[in-house]
Amino acid sequence: MAILNIIEFPDQRLRTVAKAIETVNEDIRQLAANMLETMYDAPGIGLAATQVNIHKQLLVLDVSDEGDQPMVFINPEILVKDGIQIYAEGCLSVPGFTAEVQRAEEIRVKATNEKGESFELEAHGLLAICIQHEMDHLKGKLFVDYLSPLKRLRLKKKLEKQHKADKLEAQKQL
Ligand code: ZN
Repeated sequence: MAILNIIEFPDQRLRTVAKAIETVNEDIRQLAANMLETMYDAPGIGLAATQVNIHKQLLVLDVSDEGDQPMVFINPEILVKDGIQIYAEGCLSVPGFTAEVQRAEEIRVKATNEKGESFELEAHGLLAICIQHEMDHLKGKLFVDYLSPLKRLRLKKKLEKQHKADKLEAQKQL
């Protein structure tokens, strides 16, 4: 197991569209395990492979209160969407920032698990939000894309400034 490096907005690699996984093999299972460990360590409730710079259609999540219900989705596909919900979302690739995003309230999703078995799941509430958020990552999309262009530009400038400050701080520590 290993903690993976999470890339952060506005890193252009987050814009890469992930490719479908053809075979669920040991490498994929290892990647899913490492992504779960990285997600719990962060801590977060969801992580897409895109965020660890691996451009394959794989995401992990755990929306349980105890953090003991890990889920793995390979090649996820939304079959049905219904209703509307608005939630203040955050993202491990956009640290320290939340914004209200409108998503479907209920979804029916089809995916493959880490054993290579196909499954279908009805999700609503936070689980539905999390799946939609992580699936956006696999398409190269971020929740900040739902903001107005002005708000997004302000956020980008703020984060770039923060990255510069972090770098200076790191240099001082040498
Ligand atoms: Zn995210």
